[in-house]
Amino acid sequence: MGDKLFLSSPHMSDEGYEKEYVNEAFDTNWIAPLGKNVNEFEKELAEKVGSKHAAALSSGTAAIHLALKAIGVGEGDVVFCPTLTFSATVNPIIYQNATPVFIDSDEETWNMSSKALEKAFEKHPSVKAVIVVHLYGLSANMDSIMEICRRYDVKVIEDAAESLGGYYKGKHTGTFGDYGVFSFNGNKIITTSGGGMLVSDNEERISKTRFWATQSRDQARHYEHSELGYNYRMSNVSAGIGRGQLKVLEERVARKKYIFDYYKRELGSLEGVSFMPDNDWDEPNYWLSSMTLSGKVRPIEVMEGLEKENIEARPIWKPMHLQPYFEKYDFVGTGVAATLFENGVCLPSDTKMSDEDLARVVKTIKELW
Ligand SMILES: *Cc1c(COP(=O)(O)O)cnc(C)c1O
Repeated sequence: MGDKLFLSSPHMSDEGYEKEYVNEAFDTNWIAPLGKNVNEFEKELAEKVGSKHAAALSSGTAAIHLALKAIGVGEGDVVFCPTLTFSATVNPIIYQNATPVFIDSDEETWNMSSKALEKAFEKHPSVKAVIVVHLYGLSANMDSIMEICRRYDVKVIEDAAESLGGYYKGKHTGTFGDYGVFSFNGNKIITTSGGGMLVSDNEERISKTRFWATQSRDQARHYEHSELGYNYRMSNVSAGIGRGQLKVLEERVARKKYIFDYYKRELGSLEGVSFMPDNDWDEPNYWLSSMTLSGKVRPIEVMEGLEKENIEARPIWKPMHLQPYFEKYDFVGTGVAATLFENGVCLPSDTKMSDEDLARVVKTIKELW
């Protein structure tokens, strides 16, 4: 059997950039707390995406949590978020004792449907914040979503955990809303082994985020606390890995696009196969190549066929409104996300895969037709 092929796993630079930054941290004993790599990683990431300020945190989930806090979301507040996402988008809403309302996807973007969002605003006019997700690196329809949210004067958090390196109409995803969130978890397009970043043009809120993330220690000789705190900062070692990874981001996006184009070319004409949407205003980072199946061959057969060949594949995210823990919350939509879940498959999109590896995936799938 061939080597295991992954959906998406860590891929350090050939040049060893990450090691240089990590070694520097070791040599100066600045492995923690904070330090030069953290400050520089914040600056470099903010510059890369075109945001004014950034706070390096322990995870993307922590970044979503503190973005909600920065907006003032608290007990009883309603927050809209897409139903088609990873649970990490929603959990922080619950941490803040707020109430999620799940919004359906549209077929054009797979992301938050503007139509369903409008309906949700009519149903829950007192909503406090909206979280938008750029699933698999595909951008949501930001012009329309931002227009609606501005009209209702509601703050927007962009969960760009999966879309670092991707653009909507030439502007980096994660920089349209009031706050943007990135993740450097092990499966993301670049990784720090684990970590996240909150970006915003609001300098005061970003420095407040750093304060909350270091246990809310007031200015005093002793430890003085007038607010609830969290231990959410990124370590100087992780930030060193991140600085090295940032140097190869464009290279990773190019390879992800190559993988997507390869699959689409080789598999796109099989009966019932449609690939994820390719809108002309969107420059995705192609984090995970995904397709839907409407013909005789079902997703389970593809996943089992690949598994037998030691190749990882997975369904599209199971919608949150169908999850046992979240099904008690309101859902606004028509069932697009549920259909994507039923028919969707995420294909191995690991940037370490060679052309021979890709040929192996394609051959295994084609044999099912
Ligand atoms: C990975 C991910 C997160 C969470 O990031 P972590 O760094 O793992 O906490 C949030 N939202 C989405 C859509 C993700 O894919």
